[in-house]
Amino acid sequence: MRQHWPVLFLLIILNLTTCALAESVHDTGSVPVIDAQADYQGAMVDRVAFLAEPGKALSVDDVQSLIRSNPAVLKRPDNGVLANGINSGAIWLVADVRNPTDHTILRRVSVGTGWLEQVDFFFLRKNRSPQHAVGGDRIPLNERTLAKRLPSADYRFPPGETRLFLRVETADPMLVSLYFSSIATNHSREQSEAVFYSFVYGVMFALSAYNLMLFTGLRQRRYLYYSLYTGSFVVMTASYNGIGMALLWPDAVAWQQWAPPLLMLCFTSSGLAFATNFLSTRDHRPWLHRTIQALGVSYFVLFGAFFALDEQGLALRLAFLVVPIFSALMLLMGVSSWVSGNRTARYFMLGTLVSAVGASITALTVVGIISYTQLGYYAVDIGMVVDALLLMLALTDLVRKNEKARMAAERTAQIDPLTGLNNRRGFLPVAESLWSLIARKNRNICVAMIDIDHFKAINDRYGHAAGDKILKKVAGELDHSRRQGDLLARWGGEEFTLLLPETDQKEALKVAERFRHNIEQLTVNDRGRVIRCTISIGVASRHSEHVTLDQAIAVADEELYRAKIKGRNQVSAGPTSDDPRSTPASAEDRC
Ligand code: GH3
Ligand code: MG
Ligand code: MG
Repeated sequence: MRQHWPVLFLLIILNLTTCALAESVHDTGSVPVIDAQADYQGAMVDRVAFLAEPGKALSVDDVQSLIRSNPAVLKRPDNGVLANGINSGAIWLVADVRNPTDHTILRRVSVGTGWLEQVDFFFLRKNRSPQHAVGGDRIPLNERTLAKRLPSADYRFPPGETRLFLRVETADPMLVSLYFSSIATNHSREQSEAVFYSFVYGVMFALSAYNLMLFTGLRQRRYLYYSLYTGSFVVMTASYNGIGMALLWPDAVAWQQWAPPLLMLCFTSSGLAFATNFLSTRDHRPWLHRTIQALGVSYFVLFGAFFALDEQGLALRLAFLVVPIFSALMLLMGVSSWVSGNRTARYFMLGTLVSAVGASITALTVVGIISYTQLGYYAVDIGMVVDALLLMLALTDLVRKNEKARMAAERTAQIDPLTGLNNRRGFLPVAESLWSLIARKNRNICVAMIDIDHFKAINDRYGHAAGDKILKKVAGELDHSRRQGDLLARWGGEEFTLLLPETDQKEALKVAERFRHNIEQLTVNDRGRVIRCTISIGVASRHSEHVTLDQAIAVADEELYRAKIKGRNQVSAGPTSDDPRSTPASAEDRC
């Protein structure tokens, strides 16, 4: 038996909310007998009889006389769990416990549902007044007969027969599983549940805290919503399975009565807020986004109204109505985003499907359609953990996609679209780090500024399109002519720059001369016309250890100007270390 909302939601879907008790039971009309020596490992409510309390509250004596006058009032549940929907009134469970030995047998009787408001246990011996124990979330932890998460009672069954009565009352869904076992068996069940919940809550808490930190750092709301979604799952289930009262709010009885429906609304709305943000529903499906927002607001307004009117039953019905709508909306958003080409949505859909399948398996196990296994019993929690992990994967996928797009955009901004060469933005950071690396090693490095001669005239004569064609051709030729380690870029207009690492000025002049020669030989065909052009080049070297890249470029520019004045189609070089012009100050003066 489970204590979770998805089970309940599926039970609702399976129409058990409205299912009459008579439909799920068969008539025997007698009080069943349990052997006090039995140590049941699993739920065993099908081994006892029950009757639904008709309207007014009954006492043990009332139930006794009812059974005496008409044994047929007692029914037997078909399955290991008794389900009777929300706000369905109290029920009584009855069994005779027979101890065939001559000594007492200690047994723990407990109900495996954490949200039941009050469970009264009565142990009745002939001619004695009944012994009474009480549990349930309407009672502060320390006032329960056993201060335990689940309603429980210990009793030493004397030799002979003891009649066992349980009265279960709740405004929440009536879902009862009964355990009758030794204290040791009960402990080991509690322990394996504790291990399992530690795992589930550990994963969910870690995801919640991690995403909260991501939100604090990145200020992206989807991380906050995801953190709230996983965090509210923990608090919501804790409010239902009794862990909330056992560990977090042992005395807050009033809060406990309202917490489950309120936390269910918080869980579903943070899930939807995450989904709409993550799948950008506002942009892709504005109508769906508006519908979800309107639904969210109306749910909280309705909840507020029910709270003000003290209508706990209505608040619960509202919350249980929201859960299936929530799952349907999540799937709808996932499918619609996937169909419109969002690949990241597949993780989202897979996660939502896994949690729905997990909930179904547990629900079917709980109602006895699938035979009981531990895995089936925990499928709902496992489904939710897998869902949360898949959503995390989806978030990671989205981050990766955004990062890729950002890098592509950055790369595009560094490339000149006409020539395909680096532009100034792409060139400078690489050139600067190369320059300082070589400066540190005190090695040679040169920079050349290259400019097409009379390009304006070419444009004027052949047209701008032909000018572009020449620019592309010249760029291609320069790129082809450069050595592998040299860095070429379009500096702007019809001007290029070339960085020549590990190259002294003599060598740089040779390279520049080769460039000049190659371009002089170049011909461009434009609509049957053959166009030729020339270039002028200014070269500067790191002739002194203090020269920066900027200064060297300024010197190369100056030399380019010199080449232009001297008649174009030639190479001019700046000062070398042997040159009298070679102080950095003089280089700067010429800038
Ligand atoms: P100089 O020999 O002194 O360098 O003369 P120039 O005409 O080449 O130099 P100027 O700076 O006067 O003109 C450069 C021309 O290059 C002007 C501008 O319209 C042209 N230009 C700049 N960018 C482009 C481009 O992308 N495509 C084309 N077709 N022309 C361009
Ligand atoms: Mg020019
Ligand atoms: Mg120019």
